[in-house]
Amino acid sequence: MKAVFFDFGGTLADREGGYWSAMVKDVGPLFGMGSEELRAFFRDELCVVPLAEELEYIRKRCREKGLPPENADKFIGLKESFAPDFRWEPNAIEVVEALKEKGVVTGIISNTDGNGGTIYDSMKPDIRPYLDILVLSSEERIAKPDTKLFEVALERTGVKAEDAMYVGDKEDRDISAPHELGMKAVLYDPRGEHEKTDADYVIKDLKEVLELI
Ligand SMILES: [Mg+2]
Repeated sequence: MKAVFFDFGGTLADREGGYWSAMVKDVGPLFGMGSEELRAFFRDELCVVPLAEELEYIRKRCREKGLPPENADKFIGLKESFAPDFRWEPNAIEVVEALKEKGVVTGIISNTDGNGGTIYDSMKPDIRPYLDILVLSSEERIAKPDTKLFEVALERTGVKAEDAMYVGDKEDRDISAPHELGMKAVLYDPRGEHEKTDADYVIKDLKEVLELI
């Protein structure tokens, strides 16, 4: 393999703890949203809105919901302050560093809201030096499982699909698109939650990636 690209949330990093509980507790109520609705809003809408357009987009949604427009400013301020609150998955940094040492191209292909920039800035000291590219849905206005987001990564690195691998934790977003393009797909399933998968490989520890390349 000449390149290994990773998903971020749930694969290289865990954002379930501090980040999501703070979002559900403080950000959800500003928008009249419970946990599931808030997740769906990020997953289906906000992940393709660039940072520069986020405030306007959320203000529009506040108007539609009959909420005060200043809730949008608070929504964005809180979201940004919570963004760096994540924890690396075991061996995430070591694996990306080891790939780089082997001369493998590395990167992240992630569905993320406009705070992707904040999140990735905050990880600079740890992992950023070992990552060649970040392909973020909010910047490209395309979200996984659309194959186009993966094509952006291949084009920018000049790596052919058959020489590239993608590692992700979601069967419905992370497997079909790489396969359609001819990439290898790896499912990261540390807790053994998937009974069935179309992935080429299933791993429980990110270190196993080093044996697959
Ligand atoms: Mg994920």
